[in-house]
Amino acid sequence: MYLYCMSILNQKTLKKSVKFEGVGLHTGKKASITILPSKPNTGIIFKRVDLERNNIVLPNVYNVSNATLCTTITNEYGVSVSTIEHLMGALYGLGIDNALIEINSQEVPIMDGSAKIFVEKFLDIGFELSEAPIKLIKIINKVSLEDGSKSICIDKSNVSLDINFEIKYSNSLIGNQKNKINVFENNLSDIYNSRTFCLYEDIENLRKMDLAKGGSLDNAVVVKDNEVLNPEGLRNKLEFVNHKILDCMGDLYLSGYKIIGSLKCSQGGHSLTNRLLRKVFADKNNYTIFEIKEKSLPHTYIGKSILKSIA
Ligand SMILES: [Zn+2]
Repeated sequence: MYLYCMSILNQKTLKKSVKFEGVGLHTGKKASITILPSKPNTGIIFKRVDLERNNIVLPNVYNVSNATLCTTITNEYGVSVSTIEHLMGALYGLGIDNALIEINSQEVPIMDGSAKIFVEKFLDIGFELSEAPIKLIKIINKVSLEDGSKSICIDKSNVSLDINFEIKYSNSLIGNQKNKINVFENNLSDIYNSRTFCLYEDIENLRKMDLAKGGSLDNAVVVKDNEVLNPEGLRNKLEFVNHKILDCMGDLYLSGYKIIGSLKCSQGGHSLTNRLLRKVFADKNNYTIFEIKEKSLPHTYIGKSILKSIA
């Protein structure tokens, strides 16, 4: 029981370092990242090891410099790391609080277009628990944003982080999809495994914009009319909306906190999630920061499953 509580309330890092290699989805450039364990209260840090100086880039809300098709963070010296969201989603979902991510290029490798490879490797390596308590915020006031037909809001919840997402595509194969997850309690395999996707007719435009140069059927689901062009088909029935939930988890981690709140989004994406977080943090009345001390755990955070294991 003790260890179970520890695993939720104490900061975690990886047991040892791990390396991934691949191409960047947009740049098409080969890149390798090494994720190293790091000390409590250091958070997630990106380090551009191809640069000698000014090479630390922190994944925080205010460093997001571009959120059009992927999430790009840039430090005060103009040094960037892009397409961080699937890796950040994996770290967030698994509750990895501290890690140093060394990267030798500008863009995180896209791997298979999902967080599957990251998650499987992290679970394989295992975690190191520290004595330091996790960083937690609780949403108190509802904060919402609309942008044309897109909308997003976050409201309070008792003990969980819920993400309720819907997409509406005129393409009939994608169509309208909805899913709702509880980040801390649900099995997130379908979320981690869901790949990025695009419409076949958009590929030409992306290439004209000098984007998606590393994109292929090995790292993205491509939909043409009523058909999925990937020979293996979809990985789960809700793969499209599930991928948007993965993106959302990764983007929420730029808050630097585990969040207790209930998020609802319709047709949003990286930009809307970032704007929502900025709006939340713009007013201190919107949230409270929990200080978890060993002997004064906030009872509101203790989920039913923990209560069961204590009993
Ligand atoms: Zn994505």
